[in-house]
Amino acid sequence: MATATTNAHSQQSDLNGLKGHIPLIGLTGGIGSGKTAVSDLLGQLGAGIVDTDLIAHQITAPNGIAMPAIQKQFGPDYLDASGALNRNKMRTLVFAKPEARKALEAITHPLIRQETIRQANQWAAKGSPYLVFVVPLLVESGSWEGLIDQLVVVDCSVELQISRVMQRSNLPKVEVERILNAQASRKDRLAQADIVIENQGSLAELNTEVNQLHQKILKIKKDQLSSS
Ligand code: ATP
Repeated sequence: MATATTNAHSQQSDLNGLKGHIPLIGLTGGIGSGKTAVSDLLGQLGAGIVDTDLIAHQITAPNGIAMPAIQKQFGPDYLDASGALNRNKMRTLVFAKPEARKALEAITHPLIRQETIRQANQWAAKGSPYLVFVVPLLVESGSWEGLIDQLVVVDCSVELQISRVMQRSNLPKVEVERILNAQASRKDRLAQADIVIENQGSLAELNTEVNQLHQKILKIKKDQLSSS
């Protein structure tokens, strides 16, 4: 489940120490657009990847740090047999009840924020050339404005998003469309992009685009260093 990341002030003040010292790249895109595919490739090229969706999954895995509070708030029915969050059940609930979404986010967002900051600082201390924050609902949250240096949007047609997610997650079309309709439109997302990665073709084509993106970001780093 994609989770928007938190409050503007805390996010910025906590990561602000990194600004100007290391390029801070936001990576977003609609469901199934290829964010993970792009961030995996950037990670292989040496980027420090902080994936907020992955963090959201980790904290709601069996023994995840959000699970005791989730169980207390929603009851044991929202845990599966392994003790992880029952994502399908919770997705249905939060779509139907905005107050349930708020309660869930009140538990998860501070924990995601804390882990995001920890990982970012860890990558920076390790000497990563730049940081990539993978945030599915970055445009919707409005929280990252002023912090990130460049916003990269991964884009493909809605039809392709639907077919890729149906295949990957084994979800019915109607469910994918429901998630898609709750996200920003393709047009609104693209309007905020500094850089667009077209993911309409093969994985080999994506690889070429990501290599070019990597070079572009390294150039930003060089410019940042020469102006400091
Ligand atoms: P979500 O928002 O659901 O987390 P995402 O934006 O991270 O999705 P991915 O998981 O990277 O998207 O991609 C969705 C699916 O499409 C995956 O199964 C991935 O392997 C596949 N995929 C991504 N890009 C391509 C491509 N260019 N060619 C073929 N398959 C692709």
